[in-house]
Amino acid sequence: MNRTTGTLTVNVAAVVANWQTVAAHARNSITSAVIKADAYGLGAAHIGPALYRAGCRHFFFATLPEAISAGATLGADSHCYLLGGAPAGAEAELVRHKLQPVLSSLAAIERWLQWRASAGLSAEAAPAAVKFDTGMTRFGLAPEQLAALLDDGARWAALAPTLLMSHLAVADDSRNPQNARQRDGFFALAGRAKQMQPSLLLSLANSCGIYLGRDYHADLVRPGAALYGFNPSPQGVAPVTSVAHLSLPVLAVRALNRPAQVGYGAEHRAAPGQVLAVAAGGYADGLHRILGTHGYGLCRGVPVPVVGRVSMDSTVFDVSAALPHGCPLNDAEPLSIEVMNSDTLTLDALSQRNHALGYEVLTSLRSGRYHRVYCPEAL
Ligand SMILES: *Cc1c(COP(=O)(O)O)cnc(C)c1O
Repeated sequence: MNRTTGTLTVNVAAVVANWQTVAAHARNSITSAVIKADAYGLGAAHIGPALYRAGCRHFFFATLPEAISAGATLGADSHCYLLGGAPAGAEAELVRHKLQPVLSSLAAIERWLQWRASAGLSAEAAPAAVKFDTGMTRFGLAPEQLAALLDDGARWAALAPTLLMSHLAVADDSRNPQNARQRDGFFALAGRAKQMQPSLLLSLANSCGIYLGRDYHADLVRPGAALYGFNPSPQGVAPVTSVAHLSLPVLAVRALNRPAQVGYGAEHRAAPGQVLAVAAGGYADGLHRILGTHGYGLCRGVPVPVVGRVSMDSTVFDVSAALPHGCPLNDAEPLSIEVMNSDTLTLDALSQRNHALGYEVLTSLRSGRYHRVYCPEAL
């Protein structure tokens, strides 16, 4: 079938292989998977179960709706954490779906304990995680608030969280001394908590944090980016395999016989003899994040630059190098342009070229109208 929208191919086997690479590196810790935002836009309902089959049992989500829909695809012995915490009034719903809130303030802890008591549930029946801040100033108890909670041994025992976590702010810069300060601040308090409650799991490291060294691993590591095939660190520390491939069908080809202006704002001037291809996909599909201002794609393996502005639904490429003027086009052989692959147009290469983050590039594809293809994990 000739498609009129792009095809986003997700190599689930590569996601699983990336998870296994992290798990082998952090072999003394539990390797979880952060599958928030629909697994960074790639499809949590496909990726979550594949990771579960590979042995992953701890999963992180951000919001309740995404956790409910993707959590349902995971095995019953999974531990699912909700980074956004428990929305007021949704406590029973969380417990029903076996979701553990990550409690990040004294008020959230208080509300959870009160609800648990009123529902007559034990800490085991309504498990929760706790987050404290070691230098990010986003979510989490202040260290002195956690210290006070630990001083009140009975209250800590009543709360009995399953997991105590914090988050690194500059893990992508391995030379920044803040990493060690956060690590030391984390273990000073978390170590005390674990002494009081040996079953407590401690967790600090995201993808980059994992590659800062074993002293950052704690009991459980939380990779996201490394699973989805990109390196958040400019030092490129995580050995990752690309997982996403994106190609756009060409909807129209114009061989120019006279000078022409291309696209909105008439910003680009094309010359006679040039061949332009109008490909399906524009900023409504998140393409401006991939292509940037000087983007190019591959047409029949040949680099072809974007010309003019990216439109909402389409993008024009100068395909003269791939399709010389006068070269007959065979309708039976649909033409497409690759804009992301696992070779020269990797997510890392694209985000570096556009001064964007791999996170932004990938999640901006979520809104896209792509036909999605999932390559299954190897058996
Ligand atoms: C998103 C997130 C992660 C994963 O981070 P990556 O850099 O993608 O590995 C880990 N922990 C928390 C708290 C997060 O919000």
